[in-house]
Amino acid sequence: MSHLLSFLEHYGQMQRLQEQAGEYRSRLRREESRRRKQLRTLRRAYRQQVQDKLSVIESLEGVICEQQNVMETLHGMKLPSTCPLYPCPPVSPVGVHRLVESISALQGERNKLLEEITGLRQQLEEEEKGKQQLAGSFDLQGVTDSEKRIHNLTVENEGLKQTLGVTQGLLQQLATVSAQPSATLAQENEGLRSRVQHLETSLQQKVEELVRLEGQVSALQWRKEQELRRLDQQIRELQLALETQQNRPPDVQYVTQTVEVESPTTLRSLVEAEERNRGLLEQLSSQGERYQRLAEQLQGSEEVTAGLRHKIAAYESEIAKLREELLREINHLEAQKEEAVKEASESSEQHLEQLREQLTGVQRRLATLQPILKGMKTNYSSLRSQVRDFSGFYEAAIREARRQMCSAVSEASEASRDLLQKYQHEVLLRKKYHAQLVELKGNIRVLCRLKPVTEADQREGEVSTAVSTEPGSDSSVTARYKGKERTFELDKVFLPEATQEEVFLEIEPLVLSCLDGYNVCIFAYGQTGSGKTYTMEGVPEDPGINQRALQALYREMEARAGLWKYSVTLSVVEIYNEVIRDLLGKEPQEKLDIKLNPDGSGQLHVPGLTSVEVQGLQEIRKMLSLGKRNRATCCTNMNERSSRSHALLTVTITGTNCSTGTKTSGKLNLVDLAGSERVWKSGAQGERLKEAQNINKSLLALGEVIQALRAKQGHVPFRNSKLTYLLQDSLGKGNKTVMMVQISLLEKNAGETMCSLKFAQRVCKVELGPASRRIDSWGQSEL
Ligand code: ADP
Ligand code: MG
Repeated sequence: MSHLLSFLEHYGQMQRLQEQAGEYRSRLRREESRRRKQLRTLRRAYRQQVQDKLSVIESLEGVICEQQNVMETLHGMKLPSTCPLYPCPPVSPVGVHRLVESISALQGERNKLLEEITGLRQQLEEEEKGKQQLAGSFDLQGVTDSEKRIHNLTVENEGLKQTLGVTQGLLQQLATVSAQPSATLAQENEGLRSRVQHLETSLQQKVEELVRLEGQVSALQWRKEQELRRLDQQIRELQLALETQQNRPPDVQYVTQTVEVESPTTLRSLVEAEERNRGLLEQLSSQGERYQRLAEQLQGSEEVTAGLRHKIAAYESEIAKLREELLREINHLEAQKEEAVKEASESSEQHLEQLREQLTGVQRRLATLQPILKGMKTNYSSLRSQVRDFSGFYEAAIREARRQMCSAVSEASEASRDLLQKYQHEVLLRKKYHAQLVELKGNIRVLCRLKPVTEADQREGEVSTAVSTEPGSDSSVTARYKGKERTFELDKVFLPEATQEEVFLEIEPLVLSCLDGYNVCIFAYGQTGSGKTYTMEGVPEDPGINQRALQALYREMEARAGLWKYSVTLSVVEIYNEVIRDLLGKEPQEKLDIKLNPDGSGQLHVPGLTSVEVQGLQEIRKMLSLGKRNRATCCTNMNERSSRSHALLTVTITGTNCSTGTKTSGKLNLVDLAGSERVWKSGAQGERLKEAQNINKSLLALGEVIQALRAKQGHVPFRNSKLTYLLQDSLGKGNKTVMMVQISLLEKNAGETMCSLKFAQRVCKVELGPASRRIDSWGQSEL
């Protein structure tokens, strides 16, 4: 809105300025017409002057003609001696001769004069023609006047141009600037007014100057008339002189003298006249040139005026266009306003209609709701009466419910006791069947895992194999060595494709029997590189038996959480060169010894061996990595060390039955044996030979212990090696053992493969007898 108001204000200012411009234009037109009138009067005066000059020249011509006639008569009088005008005295022949001579000289002189006069006349005529031409093209009287007037006109034009420039600037400002303070516009108006006043005063001055110039022109005219009068006077004097000469007696000597005296005067006057004429001619030519220049200037100023007029017309058309646009805009806005008003009225009408409809709907609903309200009121009153009765009814109901709940709880507790008894019975049965299943499979299980040909083997070009299996049989394996083939029958043979998961599932029941108080040993046997560590430890992305066994134990412990409470302890040792080292101890370099337990139970124990009680898998993993680190610090080459030492991880699980208080204790021994290759045969010496001998000794001892057990000998040589001595209570009668024999498929390893399989076969045939549980004396009867 404010925008529109400011626009209208500017529009008003613009109109005012337009009016001012119109005023200036009309004033200019008036001035021009006034100047044209002045020019016309000046032209008339000039024509009059020229006519006067012409009449003077005509009168001069008349005088000359008369003089000529006189001269002719004088010439005619010479022959008839009886001329009445010039009566000739009787002359002598010498006197006549002289007269004739003087007359002929006069004639020559007269002819000369005539020629001069005709030349002058021609000059005059030409001058007149030039003047007429000038008068035809430009009717101007005084050069100085015209110059001044044209100068004034130019100045005025300049002033007008400036005014127009100012007006134009103002118009542009109005078009572009929307918010100009009105004070500035008022100031500009004031400035314009003062300019107009200045122009008016200058106009007044010019008029005065014009009057002065007119006075000068009349003075000039008067001077010219004076000049002409003087010339007339001279001509008249000349005529009189001529007449007096003609009237003189025909005294040849005298005449000749008179003519001699008279002719220089005439000549002088003629010369003077010529000079004056020349001066006039020069003035005329200079005036012509000035006139030319002024005409050009006038033309230029007229062109400028025309250009300015064009500009004014253009501004006018622009203003008209702006006005049209403004009108259009106003019309458009008005149309929009009308449309909006119309729309608003329509929408309000619609809204009103909708409201009316809603009102009628509400009224209708109100009419229908009233009976409902009445019904509700009655309902409410009846409900209130019911609520009043409710509290008594509620208390009685609660009493009844409490009684019913008490009877239900006593029934439920009886049933749950029954269920618990049944559950415990079921658990015991499950354990019994599990034990029977394990025993059916044998207390010592010999499994064989074939290591697949790895990418590293392929890179080395070792791809020919010496081991094969029979399709359809999962317990036999055939090895070829030095042209001979031998088939071995074991408890289970895992093909190269067997996964870690499949291998573990086979021994899972044995592992879980620890929780029931059994001691379990799992050995990985085989030459270096046959996959012992892979089977026991595995790789981070696919863990081996150790990790999976611990996971399964914890899973089972969680499952039995309500009935049994277990505690788990962990120890990790390395047996290298028949020396036991504690890998969880603070000083892993320290040697440990195996001793009989001083409590008289006949059990063995290792004084100083770290046995850590762990709370969960996370802690076990930490301990295992600590053991690995400690093993690595004991040696320079981890790979070589691991191939020449036994790694033993022992998990002891003690369980307490929550309901009976029965205690069980089971041990899980996970052993990654040293490489079984026969190094001593390759002529090894020194430390290396000692190592090989020790390894051989311990593995041999393991074999002997198992053979003694098989033969049911009274003496089993457990003490022959640190390994068998340490595992004495887990390897003996009533325990469970798994021997995982790892073999390579490659032909280059065929010798070692054959040895490993022979060892497996030997162990497989050993009978350990039925396994037995370690249960406290106060515990329940053995299953
Ligand atoms: P060992 O402990 O008997 O010296 P390793 O367990 O270190 O032998 O195995 C030697 C290499 O063979 C390791 O790189 C291991 O990852 C790989 N390997 C062993 N058994 C398998 C298998 N069943 N599948 C894939 N790779 C195996
Ligand atoms: Mg290894």
